[in-house]
Amino acid sequence: MISFSSLSLREELTRAVSDMGFETPTPIQQKVIPQLLSQPSDIIGLAQTGTGKTAAFGLPLLHHTDVAQKHVQALVLSPTRELCMQIQEEFKKYGYYMRGLRTTAVYGGVPIGGQIREVKAHPQVIVATPGRLIDLLERKALSLEHVQYVVLDEADEMLNMGFREDIEFILKNTPNRQYTWLFSATMNNDVRNIAKRFMSKWEEYAVAKENVGNENIDHQYYVTNHHNRFETLRRLLDFTPGIYGIVFTRTKQDCQDIAEKLMKAGYHVSPLHGDMDQKMRSKVMERFKNKTLQCIIATDVAARGIDVNDITHVINYELPDDPEVYTHRSGRTGRAGKSGICMSIVTPKEISGIRQVERLSKTKFHKSDIPDGAEIVRKKLFYYLEQIETAKPESDFGKIYQSTIHERFEDMDKDELIRRLVWLQLKETMEAYNEAEDLNAGFEQRGENRQRGNRSNVRLFINIGMKDGITSAEKLLAFITDSTDIEPGLIDRITVRDLSSFFNVSGSAAEFIIQTMSQKKFKGRKIRMEEAEQRDRDRSGSGAGRGFSGNNSENRSRGGSRGGYPSNRSFSRDNEGNRNRNDRSGSQKFNRRDRD
Ligand code: AMP
Repeated sequence: MISFSSLSLREELTRAVSDMGFETPTPIQQKVIPQLLSQPSDIIGLAQTGTGKTAAFGLPLLHHTDVAQKHVQALVLSPTRELCMQIQEEFKKYGYYMRGLRTTAVYGGVPIGGQIREVKAHPQVIVATPGRLIDLLERKALSLEHVQYVVLDEADEMLNMGFREDIEFILKNTPNRQYTWLFSATMNNDVRNIAKRFMSKWEEYAVAKENVGNENIDHQYYVTNHHNRFETLRRLLDFTPGIYGIVFTRTKQDCQDIAEKLMKAGYHVSPLHGDMDQKMRSKVMERFKNKTLQCIIATDVAARGIDVNDITHVINYELPDDPEVYTHRSGRTGRAGKSGICMSIVTPKEISGIRQVERLSKTKFHKSDIPDGAEIVRKKLFYYLEQIETAKPESDFGKIYQSTIHERFEDMDKDELIRRLVWLQLKETMEAYNEAEDLNAGFEQRGENRQRGNRSNVRLFINIGMKDGITSAEKLLAFITDSTDIEPGLIDRITVRDLSSFFNVSGSAAEFIIQTMSQKKFKGRKIRMEEAEQRDRDRSGSGAGRGFSGNNSENRSRGGSRGGYPSNRSFSRDNEGNRNRNDRSGSQKFNRRDRD
């Protein structure tokens, strides 16, 4: 395996990289660095954020920098302030041992005076957004006359943002440019045109999508009607109490509105979009990095500056137009060997967008049900219990406890005390979800079908999940088939959640399974099973078919005998077409675009 020390980087860089904890070069670094060190040439690197592309161009760039020369030798153009700052921060770390090296970042949104002073202090490397750089050139604050290396980072994004003319202007004003290194997440005609016009024969290096489309990420989608999108987001947030995530929106307006609504409801979130000034954005990033915020609500462009490795969840409030953008977004989680979850909220009509991403990025999605109130309360309960178990109170706390709390509750029974504490903790959630409706699209339609006697496929709920040791669909399947003797082929679409699970079976098998399983125990706990829809109807108080012993006698007698279903029978999967037709609200917004 290649190591950094075998790359022939100058010693100061190898040392710094080792300090940073980089052990082996990433695939794009392995491809690009040796080439740019030994035989610099023009290159195109097709790589996304998270692949280590900054070091792929940054290390060779600093390697070739002559610190004895006090003029700008290398220029990196990048689309956003955040990205500029991030690159600059990385460069500072790489160049830590290079005496005499000066790197400067210039970008819009902050007063230009300080930046003029900095570029006049003779940096060898400048990282810039195109607009601010042109501003500085027009003020004659700096000259690009001696620039030999130009990097266009996230070229596709710069072009998307309308920087084509600025980039052309800058490239034309680098008369001694010898090497142009273009990095882009995607290749399109605009990017190719820039390359054709300003680069000589180039080598192309791509990081295979499979490497980027991280296996550690679980891709889930939740189908709801358009008017329930926000409520669905709230449920997902409530269902993931320890979330440290990014919620992506398509527009700045959505970003602002959603963040405001969530903040009002008490969530620790903040918006991050291009209409916010630099100071505000930096503040948000600081609060996110020190985990004062549980989530950032961001547009794609603003989120490019987020360089955080332990994001647990990415939520797509809406799917992006471009499947590549989906990969980009989801790649924010599941980094550095950790696992991550990417959740997408879609309307029935938008399921085709999911299929498109699956096809193009060879990613498998799991359809998941939007959790109901009981599941959320149970999830929060377990989260709270876990927090208590793992809490490490400060030593001083003992004194307060002894003197005040202990005395006060000395006479209260321990169980009662716990009950009250937990109740106080969960009270609000229980109230909020007391009569929560089912947000899964098509729920009403499925209910109607059932009443009409169409029971080809029924979704069942069972009260055990991950927390009970059912850590996979296979385990649940094994438990059910062992307990009932039914054929595994009769069960499909298994979703295992933390505290409960769901699966589909044929209508005729459903009653038998419910009856048999309801007499069983799992690790001493009584199994509770019911139709997923039945639970909802019971809670919502609808008269139709209350309780499985009510209206279903006909079905029960049909399914009462195990011999009633041939073992090789295959049952149809949930019919998404059915749900599609049922969605009257799905206002398709795929063409709407309002970027920073
Ligand atoms: P980038 O794709 O350049 O945005 O890099 C993503 C993250 O990976 C940054 O936090 C880098 O510091 C980190 N990184 C880059 N190269 C390596 C490497 N070879 N080993 C470990 N981490 C790396």
